[in-house]
Amino acid sequence: MEIYECKHKVKCDFSGCKNIATFSLVKRGLLRHDICLCEDCLNEIYNCVAKIRVPKAVESPFKLNKRLKKDEK
Ligand SMILES: [Zn+2]
Repeated sequence: MEIYECKHKVKCDFSGCKNIATFSLVKRGLLRHDICLCEDCLNEIYNCVAKIRVPKAVESPFKLNKRLKKDEK
């Protein structure tokens, strides 16, 4: 899935939202389908997802702590 700036003046796809969409989420497959969302809804979705999905750390927590201590100096 990719995210683009929505260049068309379309309404946000979130039901009940009347804002103009600022971003398009595009899922590539046999049928191309865009989901257009306004910034408010995108932020809300992001906050919701963040509660159940934490981004995977590239480095182990141990290494990360070591690096943070180094940065403090
Ligand atoms: Zn919206």
